[in-house]
This record gives sequence, C-alpha cells and structure tokens, in this order.
Amino acid sequence: MGKPTGFKEFPRKAAAYKDPLERIRNWDEFVIPPSEDELVVQGARCMDCGVPFCHTGGLMANMAAGCPINNLIPEWNDLVYNRRWRDALERLHKTNNFPEFTGRVCPAPCEGSCVLGIIEPPVTIKNIEQAIIDRGFAEGWVQPRPPRQRTGKKVAIVGSGPAGLAAAAQLNSVGHNVTVFERADRIGGLLMYGIPNMKLDKAIVQRRVDLLAAEGVEFVTNTEIGKDVPADQLRKDYDAVILCVGATRPRDLPIPGRDLKGVHFAMELLHSNTKSLLDSGHADGRYIDAAGKKVIVIGGGDTGTDCIGTVIRQGCESVINFEIVPRPPDQRAPNNPWPQWPRVFRVDYGHAEAKAKFGEDPRKFCIETLEFLGDDDGNLRGLRACQVDWSKPVPNGPPFSRIEGTEMEFECDLVFLALGFLGPEPTIAEQLGLETDRRSNFKAEYGKYATNVEGVFAAGDCRRGQSLVVWAINEGREAARECDRYLMGSTVLP
Ligand SMILES: Cc1cc2nc3c(=O)[nH]c(=O)nc-3n(C[C@H](O)[C@H](O)[C@H](O)COP(=O)(O)OP(=O)(O)OC[C@H]3O[C@@H](n4cnc5c(N)ncnc54)[C@H](O)[C@@H]3O)c2cc1C
Ligand code: SF4
Repeated sequence: MGKPTGFKEFPRKAAAYKDPLERIRNWDEFVIPPSEDELVVQGARCMDCGVPFCHTGGLMANMAAGCPINNLIPEWNDLVYNRRWRDALERLHKTNNFPEFTGRVCPAPCEGSCVLGIIEPPVTIKNIEQAIIDRGFAEGWVQPRPPRQRTGKKVAIVGSGPAGLAAAAQLNSVGHNVTVFERADRIGGLLMYGIPNMKLDKAIVQRRVDLLAAEGVEFVTNTEIGKDVPADQLRKDYDAVILCVGATRPRDLPIPGRDLKGVHFAMELLHSNTKSLLDSGHADGRYIDAAGKKVIVIGGGDTGTDCIGTVIRQGCESVINFEIVPRPPDQRAPNNPWPQWPRVFRVDYGHAEAKAKFGEDPRKFCIETLEFLGDDDGNLRGLRACQVDWSKPVPNGPPFSRIEGTEMEFECDLVFLALGFLGPEPTIAEQLGLETDRRSNFKAEYGKYATNVEGVFAAGDCRRGQSLVVWAINEGREAARECDRYLMGSTVLP
C-alpha cells in the first residue's frame, strides 16, 4: 500500500470531460486524460483493504458488483502511486485483454464496491486503468506476443465483439490456430458499430485488432455464418467452435404507426452513423441523418444515451428521451446498499450535452408511448403518450398503470427505439440443433460454456443476454479456457 493515509488526505478527482458545447462539434473522444501527478494522488487513495470488494466480481441484486474480470485493482493502484507504470501494465494484462476498452466504456462496478465508497467517494479505478494502458501503448510496451509453438488445433470463433476477441486472444496465446468470422465489414462487434466514436475511438479498437492479427489470429469479415457458410460446415472444418454472436435481436414496440417512415431501431442509427464516419467522414451520406429534425429516443441505458449524443452531433433541432421507469433516487435507496451497483440518478454524457444545447435534461420518466402518428405520405409527424404510475400495477398485466387524463402528443420527425435486445438470432441454433434457454439465449452453463452440441461453446451476450463489455471479456476468456481443456485435456488458461 503506497500511502496509508492517502484516503484521508486526498479527495476523489475523476477525469474531466471537454465542455459539452465544444465536444458536440466533432466525433472525438471527450475525456481529458488526467496528468501523471493527478493519477498518482488518486492511486494513493486506495486503502489496499484487508478484504477488498472492488475486484470480487459477481452478481448482487442482478447487477454486477465488483470487477467481473477480477482486475488486481489494489495492486495496480499501489504501483501507480509508486510510478511503476510498466509493472502496473503487467498486472493489468494478467486479467484483462483489453483495458483500453474497459477503461473507456465500463460503468465501473468496481467503484460501486470500493470499500472507501462506504464513507467517501470511491477511488477513480476506471481512470487509472485507462491511464495504465494508454501509457503502455504510448511507451511502446504493448507489442505483439505470438505464441512460441502451435498446437495444430483449429478453432473457429463466430462474432468479433469483446467476447470473441477475448476468446481469440487467449486461445491464440496457447498456440491454437484461431479464425474469427464476422459478418460486418469491420472487426469489433459493438465496440466498433454500437458504441459511438466519441466514447470509444475506432482507431483504438483497430489498434487492438491489428495487434491480435500480428500475433497470428486470422480475421474473416463480410462472412455471415449460417448464410454464407453453413454453421455445421464449421464443425467439420475446425476442432472446436465458439459462438460469440451477441444479442442482436432488438426489442420492438408494436404499437399503431410502427411502420411509419422515421421510426427506427437505435442500432440502425448507430451502425450507419459510425460506418459512414469511418468510410468517408460522412461524405457518402449513407446514414440516418437527424440534422434539423425533432427526435424522440424511446428507452434509456447506454444505447439511449448514445443515440442522444449522436443526433446532437448530427445537428438535430431537438431531442427528448422517454423512460418508462421512474426517475432513480439521487442517493442509494435503503434496499440498494453497498457493495451493490448503486442504482442512482446519473447524468451521462448525452444528457449533459442535451442540457447544454437545449437548456434541459432530455429525459422524461414514467412515460408510455401509445401510438406513432403519421402524415398522408406515411411519414412520422409525432406520437401519443401518457404517464404511468408504478405504485398501481395492473392485476395480471404490466407492473404499472396508465394515469387517466395524462395523454399528450409530441411532435417528432424521427424516433429511435432503444428498448434492449432479445437474445441472438435463431439461424445458427436451428442449423446446429442448439438448445436455447427460456430467454432464447444459447444454453451453456456459466463457467463451462459448452452447449449441447459436441465441441461448440457459447460466450458473451448470446449466452448471458444483453450485458456489458467487461462481462463479454470475462466470458470470452473463460470459454477459451474450457475450449482449451476440451482440445488438450488440461489447460493453463485462467
Ligand atoms: C449502443 C450500445 C452501447 C453500449 N455501450 C456500452 C458501454 O458503454 N459499456 C459497456 O460495458 N457495454 C456497453 N454496451 C454493451 C456491450 O457493447 C455488449 O455487452 C458487448 O459488446 C457484448 O459483446 P459480445 O462479444 O457478446 O457481442 P457483440 O459485441 O454484440 O458482437 C457480436 C458480433 O457477432 C457478429 N455476428 C452476429 N451473428 C453473426 C453471424 N451469424 N456470423 C458472423 N458474425 C456474426 C455481429 O456482427 C457482431 O459483430 C452497449 C451496447 C449497445 C448496443
Ligand atoms: S474492467 Fe470495469 S469493473 Fe473492472 S476495474 Fe476496469 S472499470 Fe472497474
């Protein structure tokens, strides 16, 4: 432990963001990296507790509590405090293949479980993680490390999101020949085409993909398994298959007017916007453009926030965000104690940008959308909604009821549905005869990852349902361990 009294001496100081009105003018990352001296002071706040909870990783009250990949947080806080950055990087890479992703986009359940957080704001763990890996790349310490020997075993990984990439990195490191199949034109899954550039610069994703390729991982893009290549062909051509295809079926809102022009799934906006940005700096015009439009985003979470940040950068005229749930409390509720993930009201980057540009937070809580309204040409012109009361559930119906007399109309030209995802698409399961669970995810026990089909494993959102990047990395790593055990009879992978 670097400074025994650090937590008493120094207040928390998280990384600052660029001014909202400045950052919405471009698609660049907006976090201002703290200086080395600031990070050293923040590292000194870590108490190196006798029983740290930050790295425990697990589910409490159905939410992540502690770091799901068990990052050795107190160890690298101490190393950063002592300015031993390279040693800190070594420790970080032991548990996390991609700290440059989690350091940018992880909601940091570790901080929600930090022991200091019981009485003081927690240690800025996520900022320190990002600083360690960014420094590692800047100093040239992160270099390709191909395996010394090859085993001759061939593994196919379907899907190149964080689960697929983590599995590929681990299996390649022990000498298997790994091929990653991806139906999109770029590698990265939601790291590439879900999370927008301002939150995770795509050059940072590509840098890691290039590193994996230099280590020997083969990437095949524009290839959909189940369509371009039959799924059972992979079983014949490879010794094992790991499915990491994500939870790509979006939840719909089948209310009157759903077919009107202007009602889209969130991913239609986010994917097309990033692709056009990367392909041509938006010059090709091949994206949904909210410039000059009135926008309503239905649904919250990361996806809703990313839609808000995207349409603001495109130059929308206005943006409103409907959430059907009530506004969370400002402080932890009594039934949400430490070390659970704090379910509190947060102002994410998109909300702050909307407030700076339009004068108010875009969120409206306890709102149910009832109908989309169109003009004579089938274009969206507005929607009808009402308020709901969660204290009065409908018997045998929804857990809330509509409040009479609260119906209202909102004008809008574009609606984006950010209502979550319903598991993987069914084609691969049908072709392989895979069992699915009651939520239509591929059925494979957590920790084992083996499906009912010999030699086929599943990991990430397609197995656990819509989740987080850090959980996908956890599952990819662990599925690689089980796959290696299957191929070799034993394994050295963690
Ligand atoms: C808009 C958005 C923002 C998010 N923001 C955050 C965030 O800030 N922080 C966070 O921790 N989490 C965030 N998440 C969640 C996180 O991105 C996911 O939990 C994570 O990416 C899941 O990883 P995965 O590898 O399981 O799947 P994915 O990342 O979904 O990757 C699956 C890949 O499989 C490919 N694929 C699917 N079917 C086939 C097929 N048949 N053949 C070939 N390829 C196929 C897909 O094209 C895709 O590239 C966000 C999610 C969304 C939608
Ligand atoms: S990966 Fe997420 S939970 Fe783990 S240390 Fe980093 S920010 Fe915290």
